[in-house]
Amino acid sequence: MTQALPVAALVAMAGLVLVALPRIMARRPGWRRAPRPALVVWQAVSLAGVVAALGAAPAAIPLVTDEYSGPHLLVVGVAVAVSVFMLARLLLSGHRVGRRLREVRRQHRELVDLIGLRDDRLGTHARVLAHPSPSAYCVPGQNGRMVLTEGALAALTPGELTAVLEHERSHLRARHDLVLEFFTVLHESVPARVRSSAGMGEVRLLVEVLADRRAVSRTDPVTVGRALVRLAEVPAADGLLGASAGTAATRIALLDNRAAGWMAPVMYAFGVLALATPVVLLVIAWH
Ligand SMILES: [Zn+2]
Repeated sequence: MTQALPVAALVAMAGLVLVALPRIMARRPGWRRAPRPALVVWQAVSLAGVVAALGAAPAAIPLVTDEYSGPHLLVVGVAVAVSVFMLARLLLSGHRVGRRLREVRRQHRELVDLIGLRDDRLGTHARVLAHPSPSAYCVPGQNGRMVLTEGALAALTPGELTAVLEHERSHLRARHDLVLEFFTVLHESVPARVRSSAGMGEVRLLVEVLADRRAVSRTDPVTVGRALVRLAEVPAADGLLGASAGTAATRIALLDNRAAGWMAPVMYAFGVLALATPVVLLVIAWH
């Protein structure tokens, strides 16, 4: 029976990590003060869940090649079901999400190129829309665009405009869209009945905090905070990255509230541990 333990542990870990952990981790607001390690932990833990789910069936192979025994058959059946289910959901979700985001972005980029105006002060990738409400966002992708409304240009001081442009540029440069796409694929691969939107919301917020801090490095916390308040009204559409995503109050509180120095190494260590666990279980299963 002990041979079946690592397989059962992989199955249990997959369920715990993909269903329960996003809910637990989203309740750790202290992590937001270290957005980069926090994003690494989220990626490591999510990946660990996928490895555990996909590794369950391969880990059960030694049980099959062993002499027949009744209880093992049940463990093998569950392990194969979990791995096949996860693989199918991942492939389907990856296909759906990738196609949807590419389509939304292509259409939106064509639209802003058609109706948006260039403004030499803002650079070649920026477009200005003739709309009175203050809004700024970017259309990510290989040929990304920063989009601002005339309302935003009217509302922002030169310093605030610099902050907003730096924020959007940092999304495009760091390809935050790929980070979010990874999580969206994983999120939608978990059945709707058990998945939690809290994890997805937390990851979106972390990406915004990263871009806000880039903006702070070009300007100062007060300027970025003011710009956030001015742009706080308009939520960004699906597939785009808006300067107004997340609540402005939460983001303003995080502009200059950095985590203690020991937190990042502890968080990275946790990420490594999470990722190592399913690998170790696989090695034990095959040993
Ligand atoms: Zn943003």
